[in-house]
Amino acid sequence: MIATDVVIVGAGPCGLFAAFELGLLGIGAHIVETQAEPGGQCITLYPEKSIYDIPALPVVSARELIERLLEQVAPFDTPMHLGQELTELTARDDGGFRLRSCKGLEFHAAAVIIAGGIGSFQPRPLRLPEAARHEGRALHYHVSAREQFRDQDLVILGGGDSALDWVLDLHAIARSITLIHRRAEFRAAPASVARMRSLAQEDPARLRWLVGQVSALLERDGQLTGVRVRAADAGSNAPRQDIACDQLLVFFGLSPNLGPIAHWGLEIDKRQLCVDAQTLQTRIPGIFAIGDINTYPGKKKLILTGFHEAAMAAYAVQKHLHPDLKQTVQYTTTSSALQKRLGVRT
Ligand code: FAD
Repeated sequence: MIATDVVIVGAGPCGLFAAFELGLLGIGAHIVETQAEPGGQCITLYPEKSIYDIPALPVVSARELIERLLEQVAPFDTPMHLGQELTELTARDDGGFRLRSCKGLEFHAAAVIIAGGIGSFQPRPLRLPEAARHEGRALHYHVSAREQFRDQDLVILGGGDSALDWVLDLHAIARSITLIHRRAEFRAAPASVARMRSLAQEDPARLRWLVGQVSALLERDGQLTGVRVRAADAGSNAPRQDIACDQLLVFFGLSPNLGPIAHWGLEIDKRQLCVDAQTLQTRIPGIFAIGDINTYPGKKKLILTGFHEAAMAAYAVQKHLHPDLKQTVQYTTTSSALQKRLGVRT
């Protein structure tokens, strides 16, 4: 059993920054994360994409943002328990909480910050029996290493922002791309769709798009060689077209799923945790929620918003742990106490 001031659920950008803000206030924390790597959506969904709206970083890749956050929180040595989902949370008689992970790790914490993002999200899969055996080799639900697609013939499935963003991005390095969507209308940003159409018109040998649905994967000696496409919603006699490819990328969106968090007795609105915007506290005193997982009037799901919420929640946690403490805001530039905690002053 691990006793700690705070357990942070989730090591996405907001969970990591919460550990930093708690560290500045001298509050100890443990982070528990389902994935094998910290970083949340930034690492799981778009590590190589550029982000342009982080203050003072005009452009930063999602992976670099997480690396910088890890560097920033390093002075506090916050233990991170990766590869395990927190499954149970129950109240203790002393006002604190008992939490358990799926691997049986148990925590006693005085407070909890839930930074679980869109929960235990999974990409919506390509529902074909042969899909599983190509997953991670020639069939991908996210791009973790863009270079693997250089000089390859790609088929990309989907009509939302992820599909169109990756068509435009990989167009620069792929040998050819065929985008397949089940309807002629795309859900993606109109500017991305217009750009895709114009690139397809300029050089159809390098980029084309089709309306249809993949009905089978084509294989030779266990390797993916292409996809079979039928007109969407047509019967089994509909004309079909075989398209050769080296790699298949599927962007059918995510199915957000709060997972075990949904059963922790918290108020939920449309799969999000309701919080007080001033303190980020849920309806259970001592349990806070920040980042994409929470909702309150005017909420904007941005990393920037989650960073602000991490700072606000850290102060609210401090108040929860020490109700009589007179809270003051200190600057890292001038406070020797904060600098000592950061290890930049002895
Ligand atoms: P997440 O990043 O979702 O991390 C939550 C973590 O909690 C996950 O790793 C999950 O595994 C873990 N978790 C969940 N439940 C449990 C549990 N029970 N136990 C243990 N761990 C758990 N935002 C911007 O501001 N600017 C952008 O340019 C931008 N671009 C984006 C591009 C794409 C393609 C996408 C998909 C999102 C983009 N976003 C952008 C949104 C941004 O990524 C999210 O707002 C941000 O990741 C939210 O951070 P978070 O820490 O709240 O949650």
